[in-house]
Amino acid sequence: MRAGPGRPAVFLDRDGVLNEAFVRYGVPTPPGDVSEFRLLPGVQDACAALKKSGFALIVVTNQPDIARGTQTRAEVDRIHDRLRGLLPVDEICVCPHDDADDCSCRKPRPGMLLDAADRLGLDLARSASVGDRWRDVEAANRAGVAAIYVKSGYNVTFEPEPTGAHVAVADLPEAAAWIRGQEWTAGGMR
Ligand SMILES: [Mg+2]
Ligand SMILES: [Zn+2]
Repeated sequence: MRAGPGRPAVFLDRDGVLNEAFVRYGVPTPPGDVSEFRLLPGVQDACAALKKSGFALIVVTNQPDIARGTQTRAEVDRIHDRLRGLLPVDEICVCPHDDADDCSCRKPRPGMLLDAADRLGLDLARSASVGDRWRDVEAANRAGVAAIYVKSGYNVTFEPEPTGAHVAVADLPEAAAWIRGQEWTAGGMR
C-alpha cells in the first residue's frame, strides 16, 4: 500500500446502485445491453456532490455473465462507455470471473478495491463503499472502508441480508448525504 495521505474514494457498485437492475428468475441481473442501461434517479447529482467533496469515484462491479458466456466483454465495454459519458467516474473496475475461477477480484473478495487503492493512491481509511448486496458489504469490510448498504427491495430468493454494514440507506443520494456528513479523519471513520 502506498504511504502518505492519499485521496479518499467512494467505491460504487454498479447494478442496483448506479443503474437499474432487473430481477429475472428471482435474481437481480444487469442490463443485457446498452439500450437497457438506465441511471437510477438522483445518481448524477449524488456523484457530482461526492466528486465536489473530494472523493475519487471508483466503480467496482462483478460481471460473472462474461465468464458464463451469457454476456460479452465488448457489450460490457459499451455500457461502460455510456456510463463514463454520464457520470464523473475516475475508474471502472470489472471482475469478469465466476466463483470457479477463484480470482482475487470477485466480491466479496476485496481485490478490486485494494488494487485501485494501490494504483491510484487512495486512502482506504477515509473511503466508503456503496452496494446493494451482501458481496459488496463484505468486500468493503475486508478492504477496511465504510460499508454502506443500499436496500434494493429486490424480491429475490436466496439473497442473504448483509451483516456488518455501517449504515443502510434507500439509494445512492441518501448514501452520498451520509458520506458527506461524516467526520473523516486520518485514523478512519469515527
Ligand atoms: Mg449490485
Ligand atoms: Zn475476478
